[in-house]
Amino acid sequence: MEKSPADVIAQTLTRHGLRQTPVRLGVLRALKEAHYALSGHEIEQLLGPGTDRITLYRTLRSFEDKGLIHRVIDASDIVRYAACSLGCTEQQHADNHVHFKCTRCAHIYCLNQVAIPAVTLPASFQAQHGDYLLSGVCAECH
Ligand SMILES: [Zn+2]
Ligand SMILES: [Zn+2]
Repeated sequence: MEKSPADVIAQTLTRHGLRQTPVRLGVLRALKEAHYALSGHEIEQLLGPGTDRITLYRTLRSFEDKGLIHRVIDASDIVRYAACSLGCTEQQHADNHVHFKCTRCAHIYCLNQVAIPAVTLPASFQAQHGDYLLSGVCAECH
């Protein structure tokens, strides 16, 4: 039988040792349904009035620590979050794919299928983290 999206979300929490709470379920659903990264404010709007902001940001932090979501950063100061693809582990998720910012709709997409190209660094430089952001026109706006 096909798993419903709600089941997948509930199982993702369980798999990471997190109890199911309305905020956790709501955040994960919002990020999975959006096809682009969402800011904390946008997630708050989607969860609706009555969402406790402290709980929301604590949830985002714990999801990040557990590797369920990752930060997406562009030149603005806005931190956005995206759900990691299912089955990605705590280390591989953040660094391995390219992000794409659309200059028309301003959405930032995770291009999970596009790996960050390898770069050759000068001797004695050691990279520990990579952000790779391309900009242009997304498939929706094209
Ligand atoms: Zn667009
Ligand atoms: Zn991403």
